[in-house]
Amino acid sequence: MSMTVYNYAAGPAVLPRPVLKQVQAELLDYRGSHQSILEISHRSPLFNDIYAAAKERVLKLLKLDNRYDVLFLQGGGTLQFTMVPLNLATKYHRAAYANTGHWAARALEEARKIPHLQADQVTDAGPDFTTIPAVPQLPAGKYDYLHITANNTIYGTSYHHLPATTVPLVGDLSSNFLGQEYQFDRFALLYAGAQKNLAPAGLTIVVAQRQLLAADQGLPSMLNYAALARKASTLNTPPVFQIYVAKLVLGWLEEQGGVQAIAAANQRKAALIYDFLDNSRLFTNKVARTARSFTNIPFTTGTPELDQRFIAEARQAGLLNLAGHRLVGGMRASLYNAMPYEGAVALRDFMAKFEKENQ
Ligand SMILES: *Cc1c(COP(=O)(O)O)cnc(C)c1O
Repeated sequence: MSMTVYNYAAGPAVLPRPVLKQVQAELLDYRGSHQSILEISHRSPLFNDIYAAAKERVLKLLKLDNRYDVLFLQGGGTLQFTMVPLNLATKYHRAAYANTGHWAARALEEARKIPHLQADQVTDAGPDFTTIPAVPQLPAGKYDYLHITANNTIYGTSYHHLPATTVPLVGDLSSNFLGQEYQFDRFALLYAGAQKNLAPAGLTIVVAQRQLLAADQGLPSMLNYAALARKASTLNTPPVFQIYVAKLVLGWLEEQGGVQAIAAANQRKAALIYDFLDNSRLFTNKVARTARSFTNIPFTTGTPELDQRFIAEARQAGLLNLAGHRLVGGMRASLYNAMPYEGAVALRDFMAKFEKENQ
């Protein structure tokens, strides 16, 4: 007998069970080719079909038309901290950054390493990043873009409304990609490391206005959106397996009813945990209610020893990877797109039991 196990890891993270089963079923012989997906060429028609379907599904799920293109890159969300300013900060050589936590700050820090570029921090969420401060009105004709981190994976905050700005908007959606609704055509460019919500680690999705991608800055090829877009992300060997899994996960997301339905399901899961936390005598979450993330929920008992016991006992009960990020400690539950509702119920029930036992 195997026990039901739920994985609340922040990334790499849970993938949809039916997708893993399909991967397993066709691993040795991909669609009658007598080759494994792990062996096929990125120049083969088999891969071209996967690539085209994945791209089409991304645009359809985001409700974006032909004015947008999708790139399937490597280097994680982190390489985008460099590629975005290199490719986009070319007119004013100045970019605005909303600092809402660790990843937002990392994006700013990397932009500041680029010569002849001024990267301004235009908001500050305070020392413990429990809010999403409004972005001030930015003067027209000064900034190439405004960068936001749509969901702050470590602190558990999220933008529920995109900032009103006339400056082209760039978003890091690594931890809420296709799991939270936005008017996606408000973004000039958005990107997401795949391992939180979409695929195994090793793939980064970039979705951007074609017109932006067409502006070739003559950058080194692997850092050059235009060069990568011209070659359909295959300037070099792309991560074939990751793109294949992404294609399957995208199909699964379509079956769930698309972004609106997934976002509603994510909200339902998160609400279970937040409702419990709001009434708990043991656990707390200090994020401002209006800024609460639907996908990452940090919480604590306030006592490191008790937190450690909670994490250990939860693991025993099959609730895995609930330790908070090393920067903030405590616990964190990541309830990404592929986490079933039952996973949120199991966590809520376990928290209630632990609370009772530790009055
Ligand atoms: C995890 C994460 C990153 C870093 O992603 P890598 O793919 O590991 O480079 C960047 N931004 C956010 C919001 C993240 O959650």
